[in-house]
Amino acid sequence: MKLERKAVHKRAAGKPSIRYRIGLGVLSVLVCAAVIVWFQFPVMAPDASGSVTAASPKAEVKKRELLDFHMDNLTQGWALYSDGLVTTKDGGVHWLASASDSSTLAVLSSESAVVSDETVSWMSGKEQNPSVIHVQAADYKVFKSQFLTRNVGWVQLENGSNAEAPLWVTVDGGVTWHPKVTADIAKEMEAERVRIQAAVKESAFYKEQETAQKAMEAEWAVLPETASPGDVVLVRHGQPGEITWEGKTYKLEPFGAGYFTYLPMSLAIKPGSYPIGDSMLTIKAKKFQTQYLQVTKQMETMKQETKRIDEDQKKIDKARSESQGEFLFSTNFIKPIEGILTTPYGYTRYVNGKFDSSHRALDLAAKEGTPIKATNDGIVALSELLYLTGNSIYIDHGMGLFSQYAHLSELRVKAGDHVKQGDIIGLVGTTGFSTGPHLHFTFWAHNVPVNPDLFFDTTPFHWLPAPGANPPQ
Ligand SMILES: [Zn+2]
Repeated sequence: MKLERKAVHKRAAGKPSIRYRIGLGVLSVLVCAAVIVWFQFPVMAPDASGSVTAASPKAEVKKRELLDFHMDNLTQGWALYSDGLVTTKDGGVHWLASASDSSTLAVLSSESAVVSDETVSWMSGKEQNPSVIHVQAADYKVFKSQFLTRNVGWVQLENGSNAEAPLWVTVDGGVTWHPKVTADIAKEMEAERVRIQAAVKESAFYKEQETAQKAMEAEWAVLPETASPGDVVLVRHGQPGEITWEGKTYKLEPFGAGYFTYLPMSLAIKPGSYPIGDSMLTIKAKKFQTQYLQVTKQMETMKQETKRIDEDQKKIDKARSESQGEFLFSTNFIKPIEGILTTPYGYTRYVNGKFDSSHRALDLAAKEGTPIKATNDGIVALSELLYLTGNSIYIDHGMGLFSQYAHLSELRVKAGDHVKQGDIIGLVGTTGFSTGPHLHFTFWAHNVPVNPDLFFDTTPFHWLPAPGANPPQ
């Protein structure tokens, strides 16, 4: 295949070199041999005894007349010649003689494409319909064409064309055409099948096909395109690579047909426009309120137990250091309890008059013993009693995203458990540094706590607005 392309390229330059002439000579001998074998013995599969039909070298080249063909998908199809029907189950590498009665053909002709309209129709090749193909400076008229995908297509040439075969295939969207499915072409077809499969898998995560296409056709996609301090965005790129963001480098991990990473925003990030590849992320200003909390002297001294706090932090860091290399959710994130929001995300918190921290979580007050649901599918990364956050659970949702549940009265899961959205994982309590029964709930993206409000009743894949939609104000 490479040799053919090179030859065409050199001819276009106008000055065929000696090497090219020798190359073409050898090539044509090979092609002729191949054509003789192919035309005389289209059925090259082992017969019942296991031996392969042998070619007769002095046979005359007699072109078979192709009446019709149809590919059901990238592997299966048939071709009807004047002297019989042949079928393939390996994308045209081998064609086997088949009974050609009308009932067989009717079954074989049933219309089915590789890319169905419901999945990734925009990846199909249904709009391609060449009237001629150009091969080695010759144009051949096309009688019938069938593109299975954007890249892979077949054409049946008009009868009487003096091309070396009546049925040609392309794996590069019609840039180059081949009279035979070689091992290289079969490899390209398999790669295409894998690409389509990956695209179907990924597209199921988007809200609609329009947004799937928008994200998957872009070089870079940022979901969503507008964010605030403390938010998180999901970035998709068509190629592997990494992004440096606010001083940290994040590797893009493969998933579906693309490469992804979450990018957490610090609370201090400045409003403005930030380029991400050829895409743009707009950061809007957000004002966080201040909360003053009074706690007992005993509670205040809790935060001085730095040794225990550090030990816990090591456990937490370890639990969050490994995340599954795919998105574990397939449905919307939900609120773990219907509680009263006592502290929103991002509040600047003063404890007993002293600046304590920014509260990068939600506090949801509820009765002691209220069942807590897993916000989405995932794997429990940690479930144990910690000093400050009491009974605590971290769930890995894949690709560096974790949900955290703190101050529980009871833990109902253990590390390693696979949970589904809505599973009861524990009960509301007031263990650890807590003034009353409530759930402290947040998300961590690459070890940065990010705004949980973004996730409820949606998923990061749904954050991308449909093309033409107005960005949220
Ligand atoms: Zn809290």
